[in-house]
Amino acid sequence: MTDQLDPSSHTDHLSLFRSRQHPEFMKIFEAVDALPIDDTHCHLITDRDALTTPQRYVERISLAGYPISDYFPHGVYDRWLNGDEATRHDLNKSFNIQSKVAGITADIAQGVFMKFLVKELSQFFGCEPRLEAVIEARNERGKNYWAYVNKLFRDVKYENIMLDTGYAEGCGAVEISRFEDAILPCRTNRLARIEMIQRELFPLDISFDEYEERFVTRMHEMLDGEGEGNYGKKSYGMKSYLLPYIGLIRPLYDREVAQASWKNLRKSSHKIPPRDREANYNISKDLRRYNFTIALEECLKRDIPMQIHTGDGEAPFVILRNQDPFFLEEVCRFDRDDVMRMPKIIPLHAGYPSVGKAAWLSHLYPNCYFELSIMTPFVHQSLFQRYMQVMEVVPLSKIMYASDAYHIPELYWLSGRWGKRYLAQALTEHVVGGSLDFDEAIEAAKMILFKNNRSLYKLDRATT
Ligand SMILES: [Zn+2]
Repeated sequence: MTDQLDPSSHTDHLSLFRSRQHPEFMKIFEAVDALPIDDTHCHLITDRDALTTPQRYVERISLAGYPISDYFPHGVYDRWLNGDEATRHDLNKSFNIQSKVAGITADIAQGVFMKFLVKELSQFFGCEPRLEAVIEARNERGKNYWAYVNKLFRDVKYENIMLDTGYAEGCGAVEISRFEDAILPCRTNRLARIEMIQRELFPLDISFDEYEERFVTRMHEMLDGEGEGNYGKKSYGMKSYLLPYIGLIRPLYDREVAQASWKNLRKSSHKIPPRDREANYNISKDLRRYNFTIALEECLKRDIPMQIHTGDGEAPFVILRNQDPFFLEEVCRFDRDDVMRMPKIIPLHAGYPSVGKAAWLSHLYPNCYFELSIMTPFVHQSLFQRYMQVMEVVPLSKIMYASDAYHIPELYWLSGRWGKRYLAQALTEHVVGGSLDFDEAIEAAKMILFKNNRSLYKLDRATT
């Protein structure tokens, strides 16, 4: 790559911020900024966003923006996006799409997150701090997009990512490998999502016995990388999206109950209006609990962690009220025969906005960890207060950096950049207050940024 980053791009923009920090901050920040990062939970980047527009960029980066298609009847938005002039005109007349999208994205662009992002990127590109100018400079890099993506990863020093392949926008092995190659030498370690197996098997007209056998076979294939594997490779852990569907997760061992649920699913398909989320999820609730239990047993046997979607947005598909971190208590315990078996559980997304509850669950249950994504980067400078809140109760050896980056590679970059900056700010607070000495603070940063991930997933590539 020819255009090396201007090292001053980190300092100029931060001068005001730094001038307000304790003198100890710079020493801590420089040590933290030099550290590698592992990302415990994140997603595929494709080249679909290599060239973009300000409106489309805002839509794709935002949790409120990217599900816009779900605010219209199935398929309508895609037809509008990809349609010719006449199609777009007709669809606008029926569904008012153009002005709805313009309204939604105009509000998102007025968020402090976007305004701060624009300033950060304008420094990276050396352009004016306006969204339009940033997108123009970005589109220039988009001509050699994968080199640009690689540069973003190197700039914040990613060394490992744990890739949840369960959200891939319809992409397959080729696109996943393309991304993995592009970010080298950062290494990708895949995670297997339970719902990927269910998506394959739920529509099949087979007996419950066969369903169960195929579920277990696919799960082993994904974990071991045999057969179709996880898009051709092995997995280092599992991920579940069950919580937003059903709320409180009680493990289910009773085969009969699961079988009845499978039968109900066969009978009811296509009869429930898709917008009736509760009715839809209730049909397969017991079957999903049963599958989750099988998968968690497997995690326990292999001593690998289970990531569980907790907190966060993803409206309008998810049921927000179901995502309370305390709904994971029964799976943290995983009681059977009077024994609490305590598999390794990672509630995702810091339980945001219920950060305190997720932190308290991790405080109380020794086998429950804490992961920082979505909150990082989306609460931007308030990460300082949030990191303080997490560190007040969760042992440093259980906190793990993550971005949950998707679609837009700048989410990886921003998360790493802001994660390090505001973690350094929080650690400075501890050093100045006397609760940690300097060496303990830097060791804390190492644990949070990469060591905990490597030991939990046994990556045995630890550099320090
Ligand atoms: Zn995710």
